[in-house]
Amino acid sequence: MTLCCMGIGIAATRGIAIGEAHLLQRGSVDAAPRFIDKSDIPAEINRFRQAVSDARSQLFEVREKIPESTRSDIAAFIDAHMLMLDDTALVEVPINHIRERCCSAEWALKIQRDALVQVFEAMEDSYLRTRKDDVDHVVNQIHQALHSDEEMEQPDLRGKVILARDLTPADTILMRHLGIAAFVTETGGPMSHTAILARSLGIPAVVGVRHATRYMRNGERIIVDGDRGVVLVSTDETILAHYRRRIEAGQQHALELQRLVGEPAVTVDGTGVRLMANIELPEDIEATRSLAVDGVGLYRTEYIFMNRDHPPDEEEHYQAYLRVVEGLGGIPITIRTLDLGADKQLYGHLPGQDRSVCNPALGLRAIRLCLKEPGLFYPQLRAILRVAEHGPVRIMIPMLSNLWEVYQVKSMLEEARTSLADDGESIGAEVPVGGMIEVPAAALSADAFARELDFLSIGTNDLIQYTLAIDRVDDEINYLYDPVHPSVLRLIKMVIDAGNSHQVPVSMCGEMAGDPQLIPLLLGMGLREFSMQPGALLEAKKIIREVDSGELTTMVSDLMSRLDDSRTAAMLSQIANTANVDSAP
Ligand code: PEP
Ligand code: MG
Repeated sequence: MTLCCMGIGIAATRGIAIGEAHLLQRGSVDAAPRFIDKSDIPAEINRFRQAVSDARSQLFEVREKIPESTRSDIAAFIDAHMLMLDDTALVEVPINHIRERCCSAEWALKIQRDALVQVFEAMEDSYLRTRKDDVDHVVNQIHQALHSDEEMEQPDLRGKVILARDLTPADTILMRHLGIAAFVTETGGPMSHTAILARSLGIPAVVGVRHATRYMRNGERIIVDGDRGVVLVSTDETILAHYRRRIEAGQQHALELQRLVGEPAVTVDGTGVRLMANIELPEDIEATRSLAVDGVGLYRTEYIFMNRDHPPDEEEHYQAYLRVVEGLGGIPITIRTLDLGADKQLYGHLPGQDRSVCNPALGLRAIRLCLKEPGLFYPQLRAILRVAEHGPVRIMIPMLSNLWEVYQVKSMLEEARTSLADDGESIGAEVPVGGMIEVPAAALSADAFARELDFLSIGTNDLIQYTLAIDRVDDEINYLYDPVHPSVLRLIKMVIDAGNSHQVPVSMCGEMAGDPQLIPLLLGMGLREFSMQPGALLEAKKIIREVDSGELTTMVSDLMSRLDDSRTAAMLSQIANTANVDSAP
C-alpha cells in the first residue's frame, strides 16, 4: 500500500489538476566544490563557454516562440537576459576562477553568482535589489546547460504542476503560454495578484503550502485540489480515481453552464443585473467576447508595464488598448489607470518606489504613484482618450482616498484633451471618469465621491485588506481575511447606498463579486453591477437567475440590523442557500 501525503494550503483558484511536479528553483544552483586537474582546465573552460552559448540559443528559441500579440514586453525581458550572457561579470569571471583556482565550471559559476547576489542584496535601492533575480535566472540557465549532454531544450511544462516558493505576477505572465496544469506555492494569499492572474487563466492553484518544495520532488505525480486548498502526493489508485471523477464532473458542469451564454442575468422576480468581466491579459478578450458579457468592469493595465526595462510610451499604451478595444468588438470597457506598487512591482525602475518598501501596500501605489510621476501617468491618459475614439471607453482611478486626487486627475485629463486637440489627434467625445472605492476612507466618504464621479466600483480585495489591516499577500494572517466581517459589509452598503442616492452606478470588481456564496448577499444589499474574472461569470448568472431579489432585500436588511449578533453566521448561510450555490462539484 502506498502512503498518501497531503500538503494543506489556501485555495486560490478552483479546479482539480493531476500532473507531474516541476520544481521552479531560483538561486539554488547546487554545485559542490570540485577541483579539477590543471591539464583539464582548457576543456573545462570550453565546456563553460559551450554552456553559455547553449543558454543563449535556448533563450533565443524561447523568444522566437512568443506569440506576436505579446511579443514586445516579454521579448524585452528575454533580451535583457541575453545581454547578461555577454557580460564579463557572468562569463569571464567564472572562466578566471576555473583558470586560477582549478574549479569545476559549476563551482566557478556558483562562486561568482554568490558574489554578485551579495552585492545586489546589500543595495539600498529596491529596484537594484530585485536585479539579483535576473542574475539567478541567467545563472540557472547556464547551469542547466552545463548539465545537458544532448541538445539544449526548454523543459516542456505542458501538463506540469509548477511548485515554487513564491511566484510574482510577472512570473505568472511569462508562464501563461506554456500549458501549465496547476500552480502550488509555499507563500502568498488568495487575493494576491498572482492568485488573481491564475484564476483569470483558469489554472488551479493552491498557495501557502508550507515547505512544499522541500517535500515534493521533481517528476512526482501531484494532485492539486484548488477547491479545497490541498495538494496530494503518493496517492493510491482509489484517491486518483476519485479525483479523476471530480475532474469529469467539473467538465460536465462547465458544459451545462455554457447553455447560459446569451441568456439574460435576471432574477426570478425580474431584477436585471449587469454582468461584466475583469480582464488583464490579451487572452481574456476572447473569453470575454464568447460569454457575451455586458461590459468589462475592470481592465488592469499594469501588466503592460511588467517584464520590461522601461515604462511604455504613449504609442505602446495606445496600441495595447486599441488591440483590446477592437478585440472586444463594441463591448463597453472600463480601463483602470495604472495600479502599480505593493505586490505588483515594476521590473524597470520607478523613482519613488524605494520609499514604500517597508509597507508597500500603504505606500506609493496606484493613483498616488501616478500623481507623483506624471511622466508615467500622462502618456496613459492621452492614450486612453485617443482609444476612446474607437469604442465605448470609461476611465477608472484606483486607490482613491481623497477628492483632491479626483480633481488632479480631471485636470490632467483636461490638459491631455487640449494637447491632443493641438496635436490634431481625434479623441472620444464622452469618456466617463469613475473611481475605485477600495480604501476605507473613500467608502466612508462615498457620498462625496459619488458627487464628483460618473461611476463607482468597489474593490473588495483592497477594501478588505485596508479595513482589517491585513496584508493580502501574507499567508500568515490570511485567516483574518473576511469578506463578511461586519465592518466590511457596512462599508459596502454605504457605497451602494451613496451611489443610489446620487443615481451613480455602483459596481463591484473585487474577487468577492464572483464568489458564488456571496452573490445573493450582494444582490440583497442592492448591488446590480458585478465584474469578475470571465471564468466565474456563468456560475454567477446561474445564481442570479435562481434567486428572488425582493426576498433577498428583506433578508439582508434584517442581517444588516443585527450584524454583531451571534446569529449572523446562520443568517449569512441562509442567504447563500437561497441559490443552489453548491452546485459546482
Ligand atoms: C480590488 O482591490 O478589489 C481590485 C479589484 O483591484 P486589485 O485586485 O487589482 O488591487
Ligand atoms: Mg485594488
